[in-house]
Amino acid sequence: MELYKKTASEIAEMIKSKEITSEEVTKHFLERINLLEDKIGAFSSVLEEKALESAKIYDNDNNEEKRKNYDNTSLFGVPVALKDNILSKGDLTTASSKILANYEGIYDATVVERLKKAGVPIVGKANMDEFAMGSSNENSAIKSVSNPWDLERVPGGSSGGSAAAVAAQMIPIALGTDTGGSIRQPACLTGTVGIKPTYGRVSRYGLMAFGSSLDQIGALAKSTEDLARIMKIIAGYDEKDPTTADVEVPDYLKSINNDIKGLRIGLPKEYFAEGLDKNIKEVVNKAVEQLKGLGAEIKEVSLPYVEYAISTYYIISSAEAASNLSRYDGVRYGVRKSDDSVEDMYVKSRSEGFGPEVKRRIMIGNYVLSSGFYDAYYKKASQVRRLIKDDFERVLTEVDIILTPTSPTAAFKKGEKNTDPVQMYLADIYTVSINMAGVPAICVPAGFVDGLPVGIQLIGNYFKEDLLFNASHKFEEVRGKIEYPEI
Ligand code: GLN
Repeated sequence: MELYKKTASEIAEMIKSKEITSEEVTKHFLERINLLEDKIGAFSSVLEEKALESAKIYDNDNNEEKRKNYDNTSLFGVPVALKDNILSKGDLTTASSKILANYEGIYDATVVERLKKAGVPIVGKANMDEFAMGSSNENSAIKSVSNPWDLERVPGGSSGGSAAAVAAQMIPIALGTDTGGSIRQPACLTGTVGIKPTYGRVSRYGLMAFGSSLDQIGALAKSTEDLARIMKIIAGYDEKDPTTADVEVPDYLKSINNDIKGLRIGLPKEYFAEGLDKNIKEVVNKAVEQLKGLGAEIKEVSLPYVEYAISTYYIISSAEAASNLSRYDGVRYGVRKSDDSVEDMYVKSRSEGFGPEVKRRIMIGNYVLSSGFYDAYYKKASQVRRLIKDDFERVLTEVDIILTPTSPTAAFKKGEKNTDPVQMYLADIYTVSINMAGVPAICVPAGFVDGLPVGIQLIGNYFKEDLLFNASHKFEEVRGKIEYPEI
């Protein structure tokens, strides 16, 4: 089998046994990137030299003695891509925005520091919707991303570059970020597996903030085992991010093969109500039957407040975004337009630097926070958020895992939704409530609709990523292997 078809876990074992070197692997994927980037558009920048340089160092250290100097070597030598909103020192980090077109990270994000300590070469930055706002990657100021399954279609967003790069097998594994679905929805649309960890599980230090109470870094790959390996590396308390929790990170690989007999899985009736596409429903129902076959106990549950999830999410996330993005003013970061008056500089830098969707969020955010509207919008949304969270907490005492569709449709055509923001926002209907509750969720491919992949979403209790990996891995075994498209 060609190397690019292998999972990150398989490659890690090959490197460990010295069947292949990290340099060979990294070169191989850099060649794949060169070959396919024009068609896919998954990368905003590639770190060819640096990646090879680190691969050589790791090869040199690939022996029992020296591997001990690294932490968590389960992906030792396996190249990874970072979403372009994660800082790495000395490398372009643009959030796919014009305002940061020339911005280089001045320090390593904690996740990057941990990847380096684990011997993982970083090959580049994955394209994304500008500042992670979007569900199709059409909001990137750099270029649009094509879905490897059908180049006319979107890969989802905002981690669309990460998802497309993995599905096109240009990289075995990539980091993404998820504020309202940005890992799970693109994973669903590209037939990859994606994990959005518990809020506070992974450090956000060095991640460009969008909605600080919702943002989490996670990953996308071709197998659940790959995600279990990378999560062990990046998860855990970080004194540089006070919102991280001091909760032990288990060895996710240990429990991944556990029997799931008796696992209680809840199907929220609100997620299966009218409006769910019948083809998607069929894929989801088949997955439920397969899990039942593994001994899972299925029961209906209810999350009455998720009805308000989309409106609540777009108020809260936009309010936080408006505040977070006020730092991009032409003074401290990125591109400065005009040196006339200070005001002129702010106005020009922001007007020319931000794209239309980002401006829309800033306007919504400032509106819902402004005096006279604050109580009616932001405060109300915060109260509803609490009710949504209570819903999840209650249901997760009745069942171990909640199963839902991830996206209301398979990958849609480029241009189909980007003239109507509300249509685009509805792409997140099944994912945003999870961020508001703060619980973890994984999207795992379950089947196809008209040749396009579709995934299911498994939602777990706080810090129960281990159970999600376990259920998802067991499900993969009965589902069978996904053959990624040749491009
Ligand atoms: N699509 C959603 C939005 O546009 C989610 C984004 C995300 O998770 N970063 O806000």
